[in-house]
Amino acid sequence: AAMLRETIRVFARVKPLGRRQQAGIYSVDEDEKSLSSLEIIVPRDLADGFINNKRESYEFKFQKIFDQEAKQDVVFDNLAKPVAERVLAGYNGTIFAYGQTGSGKTFTITGGAERYSDRGIIPRTLSYIFDYLQKDSSKVYTAHVSYLEIYNECGYDLLDPRHEASRLEDLPKVTIMEDPDQNIHLKNLSLHQATSEEEALNLLFLGDTNRMIAETPMNQASTRSHCIFTIHISSKEPGSATLRRSKLHLVDLAGSERVAKTGVGGHLLTEAKYINLSLHYLEQVIIALAEKNRSHIPYRNSMMTSVLRDSLGGNCMTTMIATLSIDKRNIDESISTCRFAQRVALIRNEAVLNDEVDPRLMIIQLKKEIQELKDELALVTGKQRMSELSQEELLQLDELIETFLEDNDPDSTLDVGADMRKIKYCFIRFKQLLNQSKISDKNLHLEHFSEEEDTKKEAEEKLEELKKLKELLHQRNNEINILVNMIKKEKRKAQHALFQLNAASAGSTVLEQSPSRNLSERWSPSDYSSLKETIDFRPSFHRLPFLCRQTGGNMSLGCQEAFEVFKQDHADSITIEDHKELLKRRW
Ligand code: ADP
Ligand code: MG
Repeated sequence: AAMLRETIRVFARVKPLGRRQQAGIYSVDEDEKSLSSLEIIVPRDLADGFINNKRESYEFKFQKIFDQEAKQDVVFDNLAKPVAERVLAGYNGTIFAYGQTGSGKTFTITGGAERYSDRGIIPRTLSYIFDYLQKDSSKVYTAHVSYLEIYNECGYDLLDPRHEASRLEDLPKVTIMEDPDQNIHLKNLSLHQATSEEEALNLLFLGDTNRMIAETPMNQASTRSHCIFTIHISSKEPGSATLRRSKLHLVDLAGSERVAKTGVGGHLLTEAKYINLSLHYLEQVIIALAEKNRSHIPYRNSMMTSVLRDSLGGNCMTTMIATLSIDKRNIDESISTCRFAQRVALIRNEAVLNDEVDPRLMIIQLKKEIQELKDELALVTGKQRMSELSQEELLQLDELIETFLEDNDPDSTLDVGADMRKIKYCFIRFKQLLNQSKISDKNLHLEHFSEEEDTKKEAEEKLEELKKLKELLHQRNNEINILVNMIKKEKRKAQHALFQLNAASAGSTVLEQSPSRNLSERWSPSDYSSLKETIDFRPSFHRLPFLCRQTGGNMSLGCQEAFEVFKQDHADSITIEDHKELLKRRW
């Protein structure tokens, strides 16, 4: 439903020829149900001259043919009104008049100045559109108007206020800009908002006046130029952010007359060139569009085809009116116009609704929706809801969260009511608290092992050293214990030996108790190696006081005791050595 696929509608209008009217040159066969046909009959005396081939009549099909007596209102109702309706529905539309100079293009598009009833398609369409906009209160409409004249491939803004004071050449040129999506934008073409039919009509008259000022007998602008009056309409439903845009081009083309080529023998050839080059390009575009499987359409060749690109084979509902001035002299041109019209009738257009979302309107709409929801919520809860929680409410929530977190009961719940703002706040607080505890954990970790990698290594090394030293300490304790016991025993033995020595004169049995046997038992290989290790580790022995300091002075009791004994005995070491000497001598 949003897309309209249809061929360009083509109408014909025959200009009244007055008293000089010649009968039998053409005939109209109106058919209400299908297409109407126009037959152009070539007079016998012309058949050999103007017309190259010897055919006597030509038949052309049109949507409808407006014969000489057809009035402007009939033309509007049949041709323009359906297009205006589509434009009001949001589709683009174009109506263009094509025909030789003097055939009634301007009369059809703009109208005649003498009678009110002579007003043409533009004023009637404006009247129709503003009438509709006023009556339709279901939508909000805005209408703008622009008026472009294309002369010698240059665009002029007919609504430019400088028009009156300046010459056409001195005015800023309207230029074509193409965006990446290949949409055409016209630079220097002013858009004028019109809020009523009257305002829009004033703009039309202003443009027409400007057009006439520029026109001189030497510079027949109306013949050589194309005029495009455009009504831009945007509509939106109240409260909607979607804007629907459409435009209606009402086009009065330059005269389609051709430069007749004179053939051999002074005969005029039908294959003639357009006087206006852009009409030649228009024909090329239309030929290209009529051809099947044609991918390249030469729109860019002229400004006019660029401006009307959408209207020709694009997103538009397009209607053409072929204006004919069928008298004996214009048979050739009339046939050319009709041939052109037949090709145009083959062009298929696909008109779509041009909807776009206006972000500004979208914001307004969303704000309104928020307010409505707030009101609804206030109605349901009985409380006026602010967008922000109050300081008081925040403090209350903090307290609730705290008691909840401190409550060891696994079944305890945190109830803040059905208020999304409060629920969200709780989650945010939980996140904050979680992150805080994470951070302090991390800091603790860093205190122990320091933030740098090498300090971590250092700490590991120290731990390793501590472990070794503890092992060493344990070993030392054992060794010291052994040594202390040995020394004690040695002492006792020495004393005993001394005692026995002293008592030797009394008996010799004591000698059987050889101290060597006792010693060999004592100094077993394991014990010996222990002793040897003690000797090997001697340098580390000096570390003992350091070790004591490192362990906070907590030297094991065994160690301390051994140390005491060692110190005590150290004084007697000489005595011990003496005893050893004594023993050795006894072996
Ligand atoms: P064009 O714009 O194609 O060059 P015009 O619209 O200026 O032709 O018409 C030439 C003359 O014929 C004008 O004076 C115009 O008023 C008159 N004319 C054209 N068509 C009609 C018509 N259908 N009824 C009455 N007068 C017409
Ligand atoms: Mg004209």
